[in-house]
Amino acid sequence: MIIVAGGGIGGLTLGCALSKARKPFQIFERAGELRPIGAGIALSPNAFQALAHIGMDDRVRSCGWDLELADLCDSRGRLLMRARVPKLAAGVTKAMTRANLQQALIEELGTTVQTGRAVVDYQSTSSGVRVRMADGEEIEAELLVGADGLRSSVRRAMRGNELLRYSGQTSWRGLVTGVEINEPHCVTESWGPCQRFGMVPIGASHVYWFAVANAPVGERDEIDPRHELRRRFAGWHAPIDRLLALTPPDQVIRTDIFDRPPINCWVDGRAVLLGDAAHPMTPNLGMGACQAIEDAVVLADALSREPSVDAALTRYQSRRISRANSFVERSFRFGQVAHTSNAPLRWFRDQAIRALRLVPDFVISRAMARDFDFRL
Ligand SMILES: Cc1cc2nc3c(=O)[nH]c(=O)nc-3n(C[C@H](O)[C@H](O)[C@H](O)COP(=O)(O)OP(=O)(O)OC[C@H]3O[C@@H](n4cnc5c(N)ncnc54)[C@H](O)[C@@H]3O)c2cc1C
Repeated sequence: MIIVAGGGIGGLTLGCALSKARKPFQIFERAGELRPIGAGIALSPNAFQALAHIGMDDRVRSCGWDLELADLCDSRGRLLMRARVPKLAAGVTKAMTRANLQQALIEELGTTVQTGRAVVDYQSTSSGVRVRMADGEEIEAELLVGADGLRSSVRRAMRGNELLRYSGQTSWRGLVTGVEINEPHCVTESWGPCQRFGMVPIGASHVYWFAVANAPVGERDEIDPRHELRRRFAGWHAPIDRLLALTPPDQVIRTDIFDRPPINCWVDGRAVLLGDAAHPMTPNLGMGACQAIEDAVVLADALSREPSVDAALTRYQSRRISRANSFVERSFRFGQVAHTSNAPLRWFRDQAIRALRLVPDFVISRAMARDFDFRL
């Protein structure tokens, strides 16, 4: 029996993959019910390629909306750069609500997640692992997978207390329905001093927006976060103010952005980390969930292919660590450059981005191909 701690995107995808591989497993989720955390999400071609290995690409694709163009603008809406998303790599990039993605994964799982059950600790045994639950129960298993997110308990049991790395940035997210969208397949990100605003269409008149700004850790909004956001983004181009005004205040989600510096070992005996528990990254490259999906598919494949669990864990780590860690570092650096408070540096940055418009699509495409390509 394989125990999966965490019923988030990584844990659910792993459950689907183990199900297809006919490996017995149980997912334990700390939350009392499975609720999607967050508003929208974008999945890149590599995530769909990974999902294709477990026959789930069509199901997840069907709940998404095609993104074909990516615009980078300044705060007045002047274009710095436009990229054609499909030309960046073979395959699709799709945006969707987290709720729809979660629903698709749960439907494919074919079993129930045990909610209200937190994993707190584990101990290696001669035949596997003994998993300790918050209610005191101890469960013997062949393998424990810590898919329990940024503040993973399995990781704490494995590595002790490690500090999170605060990026210096906080984020807000929201969903708006019933808005007219000029270019319904174009994702737009606009950059101003120390803050940026993104708009991602997830339907013909449905938008997922996000705002990111430099802020001290732990800062909180007044009761209605839209006041703070409309003040911060006053004078920015349309339809930013309208999107903020149309979002119900109780549906604006604020999250400080943390990651952890990369580590080079995700395995301890018969416990292994996956997704944000292994490689939490800032959301700047939109790759956290995509990497959790890749992890899940590679781990399930390794468990089916290798003669022993130990060999499977070795294969999993060697296939995954350098790729996932590279996104962690690049995503963190991206945030530092996007949010620099140094005005001359900002000027050079924007000139460099404008200059990228002169680079032919196929060159950019080649440079990014590895990121958007997944192979088992
Ligand atoms: C603002 C923002 C925007 C993002 N946008 C994108 C995007 O567009 N594209 C993309 O690819 N990624 C994006 N990400 C990243 C993505 O959300 C994460 O990388 C992804 O959710 C990680 O999945 P996970 O399953 O590893 O962890 P999680 O989704 O965090 O799931 C962990 C689960 O474990 C449960 N849990 C915690 N502790 C325990 C325990 N002790 N026992 C049992 N269960 C436990 C939690 O309740 C949770 O359900 C974004 C992140 C943020 C913050």
